[in-house]
Amino acid sequence: MQISLVVPCYNEEEALPLFYKEAARVAAQMKASHGAEFEFVFVDDGSKDGTLRVMRALRAQDARVRYVSFSRNFGKEAGIYAGLQAAKGDYVAMLDADLQDPPALLPQMLDALLTGDYDCAATRRTTRAGEPPVRSWFARQFYRIINKMSDTEIVDGARDYRLMTRRMTDAVLNMAEYNRFSKGIFSWVGFDTKWFDYENVERVAGQTKWNFWGLFKYSIEGIVGFSTAPLVFAALMGVIFCLAAFAGIVFVAVRALLFGDPTSGWPSMVCILLFSGGIQLFCVGIVGEYLAKTYLEVKHRPLYITRETEDTRRPENRP
Ligand code: UDP
Ligand code: MG
Repeated sequence: MQISLVVPCYNEEEALPLFYKEAARVAAQMKASHGAEFEFVFVDDGSKDGTLRVMRALRAQDARVRYVSFSRNFGKEAGIYAGLQAAKGDYVAMLDADLQDPPALLPQMLDALLTGDYDCAATRRTTRAGEPPVRSWFARQFYRIINKMSDTEIVDGARDYRLMTRRMTDAVLNMAEYNRFSKGIFSWVGFDTKWFDYENVERVAGQTKWNFWGLFKYSIEGIVGFSTAPLVFAALMGVIFCLAAFAGIVFVAVRALLFGDPTSGWPSMVCILLFSGGIQLFCVGIVGEYLAKTYLEVKHRPLYITRETEDTRRPENRP
């Protein structure tokens, strides 16, 4: 039985050695308790610091370490996909490099899969402690909205930290879409998932890669990727405005017949024009968002470009 740990890393030179130490400790423990062999698949997402150097060094000292290095930063979603593609294990887990996803949970998660009742053991944080309150509020609203709009359930507080069987991993790999939103993809492929709750942990070293704007764009990605409700909303707005316009025409015509037609009311006219113009642009924007995603999707660009792996490292670079 082999377990692959997939770890996307972007500028994690400080955290990665700590992660490796902890993961190796858990691996040794699980070899004794479950007879599990491990493989570490590190994905260097075009890091600008010494992350790749750390990976090479870890590979040199431990043959279980494998790595994929990207030609530039392609984002965490691409990193996860590359790691899943490279993973050879019967079970595949993905974790962050900053130890916010504690490897110590892996034995429990594996036990759940070994019962045969589940194909996925996933984790969920119960608290958002250590996070700015504004961000927590927006996060909660996002989950509320997306779960109303989408048929795919997106679990609030779910982390990307999961352990999956080979068949679920293959199902996820089959979804080779360009605009990736993992939380949706894991839910969309189905299979039975056992949830593990744990308290939020702060990252061990280095900086978070997410800012508010990044999270906002990611949430739009999720909504556009897993719901077409905004398009229905746009169409509905059109219908409502047509009805309002029709009622307005009747009102103005009847008033003109009864009281004549004095030229007045242009300020309200301007307000109405601006309002309806704004709604139109908003709706065109919604359509445009879907069109943009479609455009990127039909180009069939690769999700990532590999610069180096442990096999293709040029000999002159070897230590
Ligand atoms: N990450 C990545 N590519 C990116 C951004 C992040 O591979 O463009 C990795 C990062 O190295 C880490 C994980 O994704 O292992 C989660 O990132 P981070 O800890 O910054 O996010 P947070 O936990 O704050 O949500
Ligand atoms: Mg983190």
